[in-house]
Amino acid sequence: MEGPRRIVTDSMFGIKLPDYARYSSRVAFVLGQNPTMFTGPGTNTYLVGSGRRPLLLDTGAGVAVYADLLAKGLAELSHSRELDKIVATHGHPDHIGGVRQVREKFGELEVLKKPWPERDAAAGAAPITAIESDALIFAEGATLRTVFTPGHAPDHLCYYLLEERALFTGDLVLGAGTTVIPEDGGDLAQYLDSLRLLLEIDLETIYPAHGPVIRNPRHKIREYIAHRELRENQVLDTLRQGPLDTMAIVKKIYTDVPEFLHQAAASSVRSHLKKLLNESAVVEHQGLWTLR
Ligand SMILES: [Zn+2]
Repeated sequence: MEGPRRIVTDSMFGIKLPDYARYSSRVAFVLGQNPTMFTGPGTNTYLVGSGRRPLLLDTGAGVAVYADLLAKGLAELSHSRELDKIVATHGHPDHIGGVRQVREKFGELEVLKKPWPERDAAAGAAPITAIESDALIFAEGATLRTVFTPGHAPDHLCYYLLEERALFTGDLVLGAGTTVIPEDGGDLAQYLDSLRLLLEIDLETIYPAHGPVIRNPRHKIREYIAHRELRENQVLDTLRQGPLDTMAIVKKIYTDVPEFLHQAAASSVRSHLKKLLNESAVVEHQGLWTLR
C-alpha cells in the first residue's frame, strides 16, 4: 500500500496538563485526575462564566481527589466556592461519573444533558434536565448553545460559547490523537456528519474533553475527516485482496501500530465495516468481509 498510513500522527501518550488553569476570562479548566490510555492525562472539566458562580461542563470519572481539586481550582480561578449547575457533553462514565461527587460537595446542582437512559445511571441518582440541540444555557458573561453531534455517543452535545466563538467538543474532537467510535452507541457515519457540521460553525477555539486546547479548529476538523476517509480507503483496498476477517484487516492496515493496540484498532475497523455495510459497499459472511 502506498501513500501515508495515517493522517493524525500525534497521540495522547506523554501529554501533560496542569491540575487546573485559566484559559480566558470566561473559561478555566480542572483536570479530572483519571489518566488512562484513552483519556490521556484525564478528562478536562471546564468552569464556564466570568462571575463567581460558573457552571461546570463535564465532571470527570468520580476520582476521589477530584472534588477537592475542583474546590481549590474554583477558589483560585474564580474566587468562588459555588457552582451554578452542571452540563454534560455525553453519558460516558468519564464525563458524568463525577456528578454524584460534585453534588455531594457543592449541593444539589441541576444536571443538564441530552438523555441516554441506558447510560445516565453513571450520574448516580441525580435527576437529568433534558436538553436537545440549539438550547441556550447561560452563565454570567457566557452564553452556550448546544450542538447535537452524535457518532461517538448517541447523546453527544457540543457547546458553542458565543462570546468567544469557541466550542466545547467533548469527545468529538480531542486535543491529541483520535477518538474511539464505540460499538455500543457509536456510529462512524453520524460521527463524520457531526465533524462536517462543525465546519459550518464560525470557530476560533476548541476546548476538547481530553488533551490541550486547539487554536486551529478548522485545520484540526479537516484533519479528523481526512483521517477517517483514509482509513476507509485502506479498508476497501485491503478487501480487494479477498475475504478477510476483522483482525486480518487490522494486521494489514495497522502495520505501524504495536500489537497490544490491535484490539483497539479492531474496534475502529469494525466501525468502518459497519458504515460500509450500511452503504452496501461490503458484505459479510461467517465473519469474513468482501467487497460488494
Ligand atoms: Zn466518550
